[in-house]
Amino acid sequence: MSDHDIGRGLNSVVKTIMELYDQNALETEVAKKLIRSCAKGVHWSDGNEYEALDYIYSCRCGKCLKMVPKGEKLYSVDMVSNQVPDMYSIEKKAGLATDRLCTECFDEVISIHCDDPQAGKREIEYIEKNEREENYISEGNYRSTNNGCRWR
Ligand SMILES: [Zn+2]
Repeated sequence: MSDHDIGRGLNSVVKTIMELYDQNALETEVAKKLIRSCAKGVHWSDGNEYEALDYIYSCRCGKCLKMVPKGEKLYSVDMVSNQVPDMYSIEKKAGLATDRLCTECFDEVISIHCDDPQAGKREIEYIEKNEREENYISEGNYRSTNNGCRWR
């Protein structure tokens, strides 16, 4: 059975990282490394990486870390078509904090990964055609709960 508490524990660390980041106390690359390390940390138990990322998953770009306003796009690099080779290496290669990216970063990351300047736009079209809109739209706000539990 998977351990949801370790995800909540590390998600609470992600919340602290973002509080410091929002106070300009952390550089973007440092914040991203810390966030990644929280996601990986769930494997000290049988946890789920997405639970450690829940705080930012609904609203932040995993590359530039900007807050994406409500209703704007937040595309996942895991939603791409099978025209994208070796898609599971994208997150690590591009040093992303999460798999969800703002439009500019998604376009850049996918185009570089595919070595094709049109690939980003092509994959955005693919996602908008094949995914439900709610799956690639920003909520514009941090999650108000910790994976469904009240913050303490
Ligand atoms: Zn971005």
